[in-house]
Amino acid sequence: MKSERKGLKRLRSLNVTLWKYFCFFALFIILLIGVICYVIVQNSFLSFMQEKIRTVGVTVSDRLDDAKNLSPAVAYLAMDEFIERESFENNVNIAVLTPDGDIVLPIEQRLSDSEREYWSGVQDIVGERLSDSETSVTIFAEGNMYTYAATTDFAATPSGNNFVVVRYSVDIANDAMSNVQRYMIVVGIFAILIAFLIAYTMSQKVSDPLKSLTATANKMAKGDYNVNFASAEYQEIAQLSDALNYACSEIKKTDGFQKELLANVSHDLRTPLTMIKAYASMIKEISGDNPEKRNQHLQVIIDEADRLAGLVNDVLNMSKISSDINQINKKVFNLTEFLYGIMKKFEYLRDMQGYTFMIDIDPDLYTCADEEKIGQVLYNLISNAVNYTGEDKKVFVSLKYDPARGRIKFKVRDTGKGISKEDLPAIWDRYYRVKENHARPVKGTGLGLAIVKTILEKHAFDFGADSELGKGSEFWVDFPEVSPELPEEGPEQADENKDAKKNG
Ligand code: ADP
Repeated sequence: MKSERKGLKRLRSLNVTLWKYFCFFALFIILLIGVICYVIVQNSFLSFMQEKIRTVGVTVSDRLDDAKNLSPAVAYLAMDEFIERESFENNVNIAVLTPDGDIVLPIEQRLSDSEREYWSGVQDIVGERLSDSETSVTIFAEGNMYTYAATTDFAATPSGNNFVVVRYSVDIANDAMSNVQRYMIVVGIFAILIAFLIAYTMSQKVSDPLKSLTATANKMAKGDYNVNFASAEYQEIAQLSDALNYACSEIKKTDGFQKELLANVSHDLRTPLTMIKAYASMIKEISGDNPEKRNQHLQVIIDEADRLAGLVNDVLNMSKISSDINQINKKVFNLTEFLYGIMKKFEYLRDMQGYTFMIDIDPDLYTCADEEKIGQVLYNLISNAVNYTGEDKKVFVSLKYDPARGRIKFKVRDTGKGISKEDLPAIWDRYYRVKENHARPVKGTGLGLAIVKTILEKHAFDFGADSELGKGSEFWVDFPEVSPELPEEGPEQADENKDAKKNG
């Protein structure tokens, strides 16, 4: 589109923004799950290892107890073998130490110098911990080692009172953990890639229908009103499509009406203009000296000029009402007198063209409204009745007070062809004219009732039309009834009225 909005490029793209948010969200969730898993795995691994060294420690102590019945030499060998196997199977270090720091098991021959040094170091720590502990068992972490220690009674040693020590290196657990970590990172990267892909697809899914709506709207902006805003699978976008389709159909309708109006107006302008020109020429060339004929021809010119003025007025009124309709200046006025005043404008039709006005108007009814605009409403409705009434040229006008509802009902009825049920709702639309129901050539633009509707809606007054084909139509308006002294409007209006009274 040429008229691309200034700075459009600086605005954020919905697609990219959605994608970014989806990605951040996915990343956050995956990291959170990763951290939680890591902590859970680590904790459960450590508690598993603590349990393991405790079990091994208890098993060794039990065995040492059982060995009481064996001879010392046999007991040593049997226990040494047992400890070696347990150490190997459980990946732990096991020893039995005397309180003085001597190593009872593993037996001397199996120990390297460094192992001997290692266990003597351990003895100090264990002795300290056990003397601190209230029970004869302790589990503690020291550096990167988890240690289980318990006093035991190994009858094969001279003192009998010894410690069983089982140690497990956290380094082993850390190795396992870093393996787990590596797996988690690989899985995490895959999960992130998949999340990015899903985020991209989702953001596309959300923004694609909007892009298609924009493309359709661009087409419509170029004047193609036969477009269809496709409904998407999302509720909000479907609502937007529906609203756009509705707007498009309304614009199409108005566009059609406007074209029709242009055709109508130009046709309606041409006819009186041709007549005016023809009759003016006739006066100049033929009837100039004949006063009777000249007057007749001049009357035609006057009538046609009136018709032209009426046409131009309607078009002007409509555009004025559309632009300044918010300015409704309500005041209290005598509706009865006002209606009589309007009826006066139709007297020439009664006198010159044989129309009959059947009038039933209650005296002294007051209402609060914009007098000038209500004048347009009443004049338009009565004009229509005059224009569309039947051959009997009868028009019924009534203004009656309904005490039960506190309302004044204005009604105007004609005896014309009436309006069909299908046309009835549309007559209030701008530029709408029922085709071929005019009893005689009627001036008109299709704007009169649109003006009436706009004004009455702005006042929030009820109004309507009832019609039966072949019998005529009745148009009605409900006015609120007010007391003549009390204006209904705000202080401005009240002041205005006071002034009016003073002046009066
Ligand atoms: P117009 O200037 O053509 O009269 P209006 O907006 O006043 O325009 O009316 C719209 C259409 O409604 C008219 O063209 C006419 O077909 C129909 N209409 C209005 N009033 C009457 C009526 N009293 N009887 C029959 N048809 C009417």
